[in-house]
Amino acid sequence: MSGRYGVIVCPFCATPLGADLRKRTMTCVCGKTIDLLKVKPKFESSSPVEVAKAVAMAKSQVKDSKMDLPAMKQTRSRFGKIAEKARDIKDPHERLSFIAAELTRLKKDFTIDDLERVHDILGKESASDMLVAMRENGIIWEREKGKFRVV
Ligand SMILES: [Zn+2]
Repeated sequence: MSGRYGVIVCPFCATPLGADLRKRTMTCVCGKTIDLLKVKPKFESSSPVEVAKAVAMAKSQVKDSKMDLPAMKQTRSRFGKIAEKARDIKDPHERLSFIAAELTRLKKDFTIDDLERVHDILGKESASDMLVAMRENGIIWEREKGKFRVV
């Protein structure tokens, strides 16, 4: 049985999506345009509620893709914890030492992207300013290009 709505899987990023099958194309969350005539719906229904349920189910079944949602959330909350504690440290040098030590503990090697994530929550200095200050104060060393660890 076919229907107006369907569950499709984005051929670019493997995200399950609810699609209006009367349309020819749709844009995925990854930003790519999907040609709906070329993908085969995994599920079809005339009920948008049923399709929404099927999308949720499909998402919970996506295991092998890079979209490991629970793990991402966990990492984000760990960045959040680092940023929250860092916020209470008034002395900038002490704060940067704390951030560098925690990121090293969390990631072994951390990158400017990790500092960016801390900055997103913490505010204060930009990620590149933090990196410069950390290096100038001898808090971190560059183990490999773009990868840092606390000294
Ligand atoms: Zn996509």
